[in-house]
Parts: sequence; structure tokens; C-alpha cells
Amino acid sequence: MTSDRIWQPLVEELARRQRAGRKAEFWLRDDDAVEPTPALDRLLGLTGEFAVLVTLAVIPAMTDGKLVARLDEAPHATVAIHGWAHRNHAPEGEKKQELGPHRPREAVLDELARGLTRVIGLHGARTVAMLVPPWNRIDAGLISDLASTGFTALSVYGPPKPASLAVINSNVDIMDWHGTRGCRDHGQLVQAIVAQLQHGEPVGLLTHHLVHDDPAWLFLDRLFAVTTQAEACAWLPARTLMERGAAK
Ligand SMILES: [Zn+2]
Repeated sequence: MTSDRIWQPLVEELARRQRAGRKAEFWLRDDDAVEPTPALDRLLGLTGEFAVLVTLAVIPAMTDGKLVARLDEAPHATVAIHGWAHRNHAPEGEKKQELGPHRPREAVLDELARGLTRVIGLHGARTVAMLVPPWNRIDAGLISDLASTGFTALSVYGPPKPASLAVINSNVDIMDWHGTRGCRDHGQLVQAIVAQLQHGEPVGLLTHHLVHDDPAWLFLDRLFAVTTQAEACAWLPARTLMERGAAK
């Protein structure tokens, strides 16, 4: 299949929506930002070129003013809180978790509160009070305490479960973590995006700029080109989705 054929299902879905007067909504979450790097420059350059808003999940314990200075030049970026130190506390052989049931809940919630305070202290109004758990995993028993810790939204991966705060999940991950560790097949990604649109939820695209290979960057370039040309398509700020989630 040629590259254009691969993108045709999305082009057609966006055209259908335009005829029906319905929006196709997207948002972009990129994880693991800590400091300025060539990969971060590339992400900010690419999203800036297409005026796509990006929410960077920043690791509080590992970041400092250098990222602040870089993002001061990137008004289309907001920052969310990516756990505390992205440290695994699960025993060997278990799935990695920083926010799992392996430590006293007070210790975990204290770290999360510190993380939120630290990111707000660094980034101020660029911060959204959204918790992005490392590895997209959090002990279900902690979720009811997130609001009193200061968070207004949670973002993991997959279909959202009911919670006492807004849940703004990612649902299309461009990386093939268990196979090639590079970008997933472009045709499969297009199908996943179309399926998500037909399911009715916003497409929450998940990227990890630090590990993108060339096909990953190419996919983003094509996706932004196709979607930003389509009138029916909107790349939303996380804040809008959070406000909508809170109103539910
Ligand atoms: Zn991460």
C-alpha cells in the first residue's frame, strides 16, 4: 500500500464528520520530559509548525529551570505531573509502578503533592493539575485522594473508569513497546485512530519524544498534516477536556 492509501480511512472519516457537522477531537500527551534535548526540540518544532497543542508529562524530581526556559519559547506546550521520580517500587517480576500499593499510601500521596507543588513552582500558569502516573499505572485505592492532594484530573491509558475527578486518558500509543520498540505500523495506527473517533471519545495520542525513531516522527508529521487540513478536526488543550470532565 502506498502511504496515501494508508491514510485514506482517516481522510474519509474526517470528511464524513464535516458533512455531518461533527468535530473530530484530538489531544496530544507526550511523556517523560525532564530537560531540553534535541528530541524535545524536534517535538516542539513539529507541533509548533502545525499549531498542535501538546501536554508534556514532566517528571518533577528530575527537572529544573532549564526546561522552564525552553518552554518559555513554546507557548503551545502545557505541563502535567508525571508521578514524582518515575521510580519503580514494584518487586522484580511485577509490572513497574511508582504509584502502586507497595508503599504506605501517605508516602505516595506526599510525593505526589510535592510533585504538583514543584511543577507549579517551576512552570506556573503553564501547569495543568493533571496527574500522569508513570507506566500509566496507579493503585485504584489512591484515586479518591487525588482531588484533596490538589489534582483536578488523572490521565492513564485506555477506556476511562469512573472516578471522583476528571479522567482524561490517552488511547492511541504510537510506540510498539513489546515488539520492535519503534513506531507501530502506520496503517494500524490510522485504523486505531478511526476506531477511536467512531467510538466517540476524543483521540488521546500518546508519544514519548525521547525514544522516537524516524517512522514515529514521520507518522506525527503525516497525522498533523492530515488533521490540521481538515475543517472537522480540532486539537484540544488538556485544560478544555479537564473542564469538560469536571462538569460531568
Ligand atoms: Zn513515563
